[in-house]
Amino acid sequence: MIYEPKKSRRMKCVVCRKTVWTKRKDRLYCSAKCCLRAKYIKHKDKILARNKKWIKNHPEKNAEYHRNWLKKNRKKWNKSQAKYQRKKYHKDIEKSRAKGREMYYKLKESEKNGNKKNK
Ligand SMILES: [Zn+2]
Repeated sequence: MIYEPKKSRRMKCVVCRKTVWTKRKDRLYCSAKCCLRAKYIKHKDKILARNKKWIKNHPEKNAEYHRNWLKKNRKKWNKSQAKYQRKKYHKDIEKSRAKGREMYYKLKESEKNGNKKNK
């Protein structure tokens, strides 16, 4: 941090590392958003536990919230789903390839054994 002789001084936001001019000495965050984010990072476990409890007590409200979110972010959801499916597809292909490789090696080995037996 650089201390200026003027009233306002430059400071670095703790969360997003942005440099901002401010008049307050004890300021840590550049914006209310960063303040909230810092709070979340500090009390993450508590907040997550509270959210879980709330979801258990209000399953209908949670479902409604998710429905509303889906209405708003349908594209985002589709994108994430496509990504997931692509991953699954690749995994399946890898599995089938591994199986094919195994079959191939087994065949080769059996051929070798057969040749030895024949000789
Ligand atoms: Zn910030």
